[in-house]
Amino acid sequence: GPKSYSFMLRTKNPCGKVSNQLYLTMNDLADQFGIGTLRLTTRQTFQLHGVLKKDLKMVMSTIIKNMGSTLGACGDLNRNVLAPAAPLVRKDYLFAQQTAENIAALLTPQSGFYYDVWLDGEQVMTAEPPEVTKARNDNSHGTNFPDLPEPIYGTQFLPRKFKIAVTVPTDNSVDLLTNDIGVVVVTDDDGEPQGYNIYVGGGMGRTHRLETTFPRLAEPLGFVPKEDILYAVKAIVVTQRENGRRDDRKYSRMKYLISSWGIKKFRSVVEQYYGKKFEPTHELPEWEFKSYLGWHEQGDGHLFCGLHVDNGRIGGKKKKALREVIEKYGLSVRLTPNQNIILCDIRNAWKRPITTTLAQAGLLTPRYVDPLNVTAMACPALPLCPLAIAEAERGTPDILKRVRVAFEKVGLKYKESVVIRVTGCPNGCARPYMAELGLVGDGPNSYQIWLGGTPNQTSLARAFLNKVKIQDLEKVLEPLFYHWKRKRQSNESFGDFTNRVGFETLQELVDKWE
Ligand code: SF4
Repeated sequence: GPKSYSFMLRTKNPCGKVSNQLYLTMNDLADQFGIGTLRLTTRQTFQLHGVLKKDLKMVMSTIIKNMGSTLGACGDLNRNVLAPAAPLVRKDYLFAQQTAENIAALLTPQSGFYYDVWLDGEQVMTAEPPEVTKARNDNSHGTNFPDLPEPIYGTQFLPRKFKIAVTVPTDNSVDLLTNDIGVVVVTDDDGEPQGYNIYVGGGMGRTHRLETTFPRLAEPLGFVPKEDILYAVKAIVVTQRENGRRDDRKYSRMKYLISSWGIKKFRSVVEQYYGKKFEPTHELPEWEFKSYLGWHEQGDGHLFCGLHVDNGRIGGKKKKALREVIEKYGLSVRLTPNQNIILCDIRNAWKRPITTTLAQAGLLTPRYVDPLNVTAMACPALPLCPLAIAEAERGTPDILKRVRVAFEKVGLKYKESVVIRVTGCPNGCARPYMAELGLVGDGPNSYQIWLGGTPNQTSLARAFLNKVKIQDLEKVLEPLFYHWKRKRQSNESFGDFTNRVGFETLQELVDKWE
């Protein structure tokens, strides 16, 4: 069928930064060569679905020439580096974003192969700060292969994909603890960046009915002064390169290495490559989920506007209105780790006309996004992902509607919400194991139900029920929501409630429900 001849292509945009030119290019490529819609991902990138093999080279070279890249967006190497998408002109945010870009540059493949294939060898030079080049080539403590074209990756690359996120204290818009490496900027009392807390060993993917595979939260590794971050990251990557399992891809993410060694042994091996001891991590305030939806001051006299995008898919009249506004005002955009989009650098005088155009397309109107939808995520799944065994993106609007109806039935208000995430398989691309209500496809029209994540994404959900048929969702959700409404402590989130009450009691409630 046509499936075997069409490709999915993913860009690489550290911090989700997308220039005006690249946005317009991606929009037009989706029309000409894709399926006419733009898909934003949970890693702040674009995916183009349905590109035909004969068009691949044209599409790739167009992206590269318009300041985009797809280099390292797939494969066993570092993936797109996340950082808060908000274009806030604040020391800590700018520092986090610069750090994300430096880490992305450090771990970008170096060989010319990529340009040979897509641009017939024409080199597109991307300038990188000298400290990045220096850190990559530094071979003290045996961290690289000086004679190979890939000094960090060597000939074998990494055992598996590798994910990194950078953020500032309190801002968990990046789902920090789901990454192989989580980096947090630590500032002094004047807001001056001093260094970083580093967390390691997060990851979502698992396999059904295989208890030895599991989602895992990253745990504290230590603190490093700001000038050492690239060396520390490289030492961690090299530890995984040298010790991560290569015999079985199911166990090759770094989380399994850390889980089998324990954090103490892992830390001491990383310290040998790093050449120093890690300092203890600094105490940080509570994490919060930040959506950045709506209008905000950037801090430099300009405004930014966060727009909710259902399931990250931009199509139809919304796509047209967005393109119009972005082109007319020359706006750059940012993609968020929640599959939303932020329009940046907006002058005050443009706010009115932009609001009007977007509202006409159904964006930015009051209640254009249900509170349940603000935090909901779904992966592409059927028919676009070959691993999918159940619906996710296509089924989610209906699932959210049914949750809303269940809310109304038990008397929960419109403003109440739970974090809902749906994936078509256990691979977990939409991070369902961090949700308060996670639905993970485990058969045709059937889902595993996960409970116990929290609104700020700091605790891991656990599997509550298996093989729940999609048509039976209410039989599970109504009793849970009914008792949450009645038995919750003041402002207790659904996730905290399910954890406090315990799965045994919840199971009884579901069994007794008529
Ligand atoms: Fe595909 Fe599974 Fe990822 Fe969904 S979670 S996009 S079905 S691999």
